[in-house]
Amino acid sequence: MSKSRVVVAIDGPAGAGKSTVSKLLAQELNYLLLDTGALYRCVGLAATRAGVEAEPAKVAEVAQQLAANSSIEFRRNEDGSQSVWLDGEDVSVAIRTPENSQAASRVSAIPEVRAALMDLQRSVGDKGGVVVEGRDIGTVVFPQAPAKFFLTASVNTRSARRHKELLARGDTTSLEEVAADVKERDRRDSTRPVAPLKQADDAVLVDSTEQTIDEVVQLMAEAVRRIEGE
Ligand code: C5P
Repeated sequence: MSKSRVVVAIDGPAGAGKSTVSKLLAQELNYLLLDTGALYRCVGLAATRAGVEAEPAKVAEVAQQLAANSSIEFRRNEDGSQSVWLDGEDVSVAIRTPENSQAASRVSAIPEVRAALMDLQRSVGDKGGVVVEGRDIGTVVFPQAPAKFFLTASVNTRSARRHKELLARGDTTSLEEVAADVKERDRRDSTRPVAPLKQADDAVLVDSTEQTIDEVVQLMAEAVRRIEGE
């Protein structure tokens, strides 16, 4: 039986546990991990810093420059997590503030921004052996991926998880504000005309509301191993 290392696409709304699940799944399978949300977050941060966040054409230029200059870099920490670097600066914390989450969501609705980040994402996935997490991975970026999952959870569960993460980082945003933020991003991500968040027809739906992270990771790892062996 042949064993091939494949592209695993994991899509789903904010706070569904994608980042944690993707990281653990990549470790379990000994795959690379591509966090595509971090790319949009870097564009949001760079555009805000340049003071052009409200001007789509200029945001698109920022995205094109970041892609052309290979400005965004992922580095692996000793504990297996990844840090995100923008032009040589560690922006892992700066890109995850609630303000920058909204900025990332807004810039990601600009078609030219999505186009600028497309080649970058595909070049990482081309060789296989990679877990790619995002919103449009199974539908647009890697429609041919043999393993696709759509990971979701109830809005309450997702907001509570996000709130806990922010608290752990010393961010005191209230649960109500976090829930409002999650709902707003869901709405924007699902209704934008270009590459909206939606489950691919051939993606396996995984609801993590009632399942532990470990259960979800094991379920996915077994599915990927079956596909690798086909
Ligand atoms: O996954 P994460 O929450 O870090 O993504 C930040 C934002 O980037 C999302 O709210 C979404 O608007 C955007 N995004 C996207 N397409 C992806 C990944 C993220 O539009 N593939």
